[in-house]
Amino acid sequence: GVQTCALPISSFVPEFAALGLSEPLLRAVASRGYSVPSPIQRECIPAVLNGRDVLAAAQTGTGKTAGFTLPTLERLLHGERARSTAVRALVLTPTRELAAQVADSVRAYGRHVDLRSDVVFGGVSANPQIDRLRGGTDVLVATPGRLMDLHQQRALRLDRVEILVLDEADRMLDMGFLRDIRRILALLPNGRQTLLFSATFSPEIRRLASGMLHQPVHLQANPDRKSTRLNSSHLVIS
Ligand code: AMP
Repeated sequence: GVQTCALPISSFVPEFAALGLSEPLLRAVASRGYSVPSPIQRECIPAVLNGRDVLAAAQTGTGKTAGFTLPTLERLLHGERARSTAVRALVLTPTRELAAQVADSVRAYGRHVDLRSDVVFGGVSANPQIDRLRGGTDVLVATPGRLMDLHQQRALRLDRVEILVLDEADRMLDMGFLRDIRRILALLPNGRQTLLFSATFSPEIRRLASGMLHQPVHLQANPDRKSTRLNSSHLVIS
């Protein structure tokens, strides 16, 4: 007869399981075909699960998106679901292309969990976005300008945000989003967890990071794909 495979999914992706991710997320990882975590994922996932803030020097291609998405979903799984226009995890990206791409990843990694995710960006009508936000969103991926517009229209509330991710923070500053980011930060609870990803570290990025991160774990995904956990003296933020 037909033999069913009784092995738990965690035995197919043991190195991801060892990082502390639970079964529904491991299933999504396995179905994407990943066998081992990338160096940045190896460092970032446990740090985020431990509630730490993270400051990561990481470029596209390092696996940073899964590095912040998987542990964010894991943490959200253990709390109450979002209600009435509230947002629990906010991922800011510089462009709508990146927002759409990150939102696709959030959907893919979250396909076996009952968390709601959404994406908002400018250049398209706000009304469908406002309708979708009405019931609350566990993970919202957004560009800063449209997020502020929607907040001003009371389409969403940010006073319950548990986790903030800034993806490609250097590009957001290059695109002139510093003011919006500062306004958004002022709306978030102080006790939130913050993860900042940037390819480069200008004085402006360091200043932003030092104001918004609380004793962050410093990570660097080197171009040779080896990730290092730095002591605080390396990526000095002042
Ligand atoms: P990112 O740096 O987040 O843009 O990811 C770059 C690419 O690496 C994406 O196509 C991911 O699907 C892929 N990726 C992410 N994590 C892994 C992994 N652990 N193993 C293999 N590929 C991965």
